[in-house]
Amino acid sequence: MTATHISDLLRQGRPLKSVEFYPPKTEKDKARLLLASRRLQEFRPDFVSVTYGAGGSTRQFTQEITCQLQSEFGWLMMPHLTCVGSTRDELFSIVRDFHHAGFRNIMTLRGDPPKGSGKFVAVKDGFRYASDLVAFIKKHFPDFCLGVAGYPEKHPEAPSFEDDLAHLKFKVDLGGEFITTQLFYDNAAYFDFVNRLREIGVDKPVIPGILPILNIGQVERFGITLPQDLFQQLKRAGKDKARQRQVGIEWATDQIADLLDGGAPGVHLFVMNLSKSALGILHNLRERGYFPD
Ligand SMILES: Cc1cc2nc3c(=O)[nH]c(=O)nc-3n(C[C@H](O)[C@H](O)[C@H](O)COP(=O)(O)OP(=O)(O)OC[C@H]3O[C@@H](n4cnc5c(N)ncnc54)[C@H](O)[C@@H]3O)c2cc1C
Repeated sequence: MTATHISDLLRQGRPLKSVEFYPPKTEKDKARLLLASRRLQEFRPDFVSVTYGAGGSTRQFTQEITCQLQSEFGWLMMPHLTCVGSTRDELFSIVRDFHHAGFRNIMTLRGDPPKGSGKFVAVKDGFRYASDLVAFIKKHFPDFCLGVAGYPEKHPEAPSFEDDLAHLKFKVDLGGEFITTQLFYDNAAYFDFVNRLREIGVDKPVIPGILPILNIGQVERFGITLPQDLFQQLKRAGKDKARQRQVGIEWATDQIADLLDGGAPGVHLFVMNLSKSALGILHNLRERGYFPD
């Protein structure tokens, strides 16, 4: 497998399109993911990432499906990795396995506390922050390109935006080569976030993470701001699922076009293993002259 760093792709200067899947737990889930993948192939994503299950639940599936997507579709794959529930020795062997499998990009995260426990607690001999994991991987496997997470509306646990930005800068200074953001629906939050990062000396690319919204409840758990206009459009769609999806597709299309016009280095679509919304958005963007190839 040709090892390619996402940081190299970003340096090419053309906007990148990438998608994110989560590891399927059942054969039915897997079939759905593979169908979505086949459909998305038409748009040739620049890279595809696969999330890492919280609390060990879907962990073994991340590497499995990442390998399968790489070999079936020839995509540049980026597995995610979190600090949740693993000692540094365990993390070392997971990263070594990723390396042996030919991956050279990792989305490097702390992870959320397992469901039901509100506070993140590092395991004995494990790591407390994503920055610890970034430093650890860079020390032992320096040829990985590491992505890190950023929060245009602040990470919920951070006492202030300034603190959160300083922590993000620390992660980047230790070796994070690009930032992928948490989802957001108001581009002003993204542009303000990027400006504030530039002001404190973070010059790495910030890839906006976009979740095509399907309904109001879908984003409530993230505590993300829903612009009034979007909220009203979804309300008007009522229980009509096709209409809800259409609202999400149109909002995301306009949002991404505006982000790319404003200089964003690409877009990362959280597709939730479904293809309809992502296909609608990518199709619209192509019609409007974005991502022509
Ligand atoms: C693009 C993206 C992909 C994701 N993929 C996954 C996934 O695959 N699996 C999964 O379980 N979760 C995933 N998440 C969710 C993520 O794990 C959570 O948001 C988690 O709560 C924080 O992870 P982090 O890597 O940003 O943590 P950190 O960067 O460690 O930050 C966590 C909190 O600690 C604070 N902090 C950081 N360093 C310090 C310090 N030195 N001192 C004091 N405070 C500090 C930060 O300000 C923040 O409030 C993803 C999030 C994003 C945006």
